[in-house]
Amino acid sequence: MRAIAKKEGIGFEVVDAKKPEPKKGEVLVKVNAASVCGTDIHIYNNDAPWDTRIAKGRIIGHEFTGVVEAIGEGADRVKVGDTVANESHISCGKCPQCKAGRVHTCLNIKAVGIDINGSYAEYVSVPQHVLFKVSEKIPPHIATLHESCGNSVYTVSAGPVKGKAIAVFGLGPTGLFAIAVAKHWGAKKIIAVGGTKIHLDLAKKVGADVLVDRHKGNVIEQIKEATAGEGVDVVLEMAGAQASIEQGLKVLKPGGQMTLLGLPAQKVNVDWSKDIVLKDITIRGIYGREIPKTWNQMKELFADKKFNLEPIVTHKFKLEDFEKAVQVMKEGNCGKVVLLP
Ligand SMILES: [Zn+2]
Ligand SMILES: [Zn+2]
Repeated sequence: MRAIAKKEGIGFEVVDAKKPEPKKGEVLVKVNAASVCGTDIHIYNNDAPWDTRIAKGRIIGHEFTGVVEAIGEGADRVKVGDTVANESHISCGKCPQCKAGRVHTCLNIKAVGIDINGSYAEYVSVPQHVLFKVSEKIPPHIATLHESCGNSVYTVSAGPVKGKAIAVFGLGPTGLFAIAVAKHWGAKKIIAVGGTKIHLDLAKKVGADVLVDRHKGNVIEQIKEATAGEGVDVVLEMAGAQASIEQGLKVLKPGGQMTLLGLPAQKVNVDWSKDIVLKDITIRGIYGREIPKTWNQMKELFADKKFNLEPIVTHKFKLEDFEKAVQVMKEGNCGKVVLLP
């Protein structure tokens, strides 16, 4: 089968790999679409920690949808012919976190397309518990978004939404998904903060009420102005940047919530007393997707025609044209990029 694998050092290559056979507890899926994550670009660039964690020959890709083709011994979660989407995190089921029902923070977590072969391929075989049955009516380029959209669903659902003023910092795919989710769940006003025209345009398309270009004027003043000087009830920090974390804290009302999905590369400097403690706010970190809660929420969202993620998928490429996909992602003038085998 055709697949995209990690090269020695920087880059990926097309390889002719052996079609996997589902081992005990595994399910073989014929991939219909695989979406590209920013992590894949770090893997492509051989950035730390991926340079030491991923060896040459590993098939990349951890977001996909497809149809179940074969079932390994003992796997009974899905049937041959089912359409599925995947959870990228593989939990162990045995550690204290898993036993406490927090499988998304499993202490021995592994990932598809990182620790086992992934979905940039015609077929992928994965442990059955990472698969979720989805409607076959959802087009593949949308169904593959479950994994990454799930991050945003979890982020938005971690705080109040309905009737609230929400500022979203960072308009990559997870920020855009978060806007679509917050809009769908009845946010009163959504303020999108981004740095490029294409991202701000996409934010508008999926439901942002106010657009703030972080390169133009004072971000804090613009958000205060849009909220009659009050600030917002909730900040969703999807950028992982010093500036947006600081600005987010400044525009948050006393008693508000800041929910964090973005991962800053360095330590962050904030006014802890003035902007956190004395404002009596809640700060909440988000990792992965709550299982099964986030997946149940997505089932409802993806079934609703009014929940439209179509504008966010700006590019589709054939699997073997992965270099074009990598290039588009590196340039950054895109929403979500999807590979079709
Ligand atoms: Zn990812
Ligand atoms: Zn575990």
